[in-house]
Amino acid sequence: MELIFATGNPNKLKEASAILGKNVTLIMPKKLGYKGEIPETGLTIDDNSKMKCRFIWNKFNRTCFADDTALEVYSLGGAPGVYSARYASLDPPTLDLFPDPAIPALSAADHNDAANRAKLLSELYKVDKRKKNIRAARFRTVITLIHKGTLYTFEGKLEGTIAEKESGLGGFGYDSIFIPEGCSCTFAEMSETQKNAMSHRGIAMRKLANFLSRLQ
Ligand code: IMP
Repeated sequence: MELIFATGNPNKLKEASAILGKNVTLIMPKKLGYKGEIPETGLTIDDNSKMKCRFIWNKFNRTCFADDTALEVYSLGGAPGVYSARYASLDPPTLDLFPDPAIPALSAADHNDAANRAKLLSELYKVDKRKKNIRAARFRTVITLIHKGTLYTFEGKLEGTIAEKESGLGGFGYDSIFIPEGCSCTFAEMSETQKNAMSHRGIAMRKLANFLSRLQ
């Protein structure tokens, strides 16, 4: 089965391919000639996941899916949340209005993983030390699939904590500062197989894989 994955992120494509297995061939929109941005201007990751998937469905009219992920830190009121990809590029007044519907579309220049991690670590040092569980956080992924014009969603969540400093060289995004619950190392210190077995995206992807296997 061929599926379009509405992403430009080769790391996500690799993780998704490993989970969906050999019977599913994933195609990125750029392979089909679409090199532009895929809009994600919603106020929630659920909205963004659907928006990205509908955009690709409307372009190609072929079975496709999109995912959107947020890192939610409880002591920061759920930030970076829907703005996880552009956290470092939001200025303080914007963050005070979090989440702000007036934020424009994400551009590639706004997406800087290293700056996002540094910003999150520094924001956590500003939190009132009397608060409990300052570093508790979760990852949440929402996958949207459109097949024959019908939309389906699959969710994966993973609790954990934000490390004091970066560790590990694997993965991407916030991996080097996220320690999954029950683990003693960050995602970036794990093999891809270990990460996929427990990750938010892994959980949502396996729900998708299960659904697809019943379609074939
Ligand atoms: P999006 O789903 O690509 O919009 O991801 C939002 C932000 O979360 C981006 O900054 C990603 O780099 C980051 N992110 C998404 N998935 C993961 C993950 O599995 N580990 C670490 N960071 C992630």
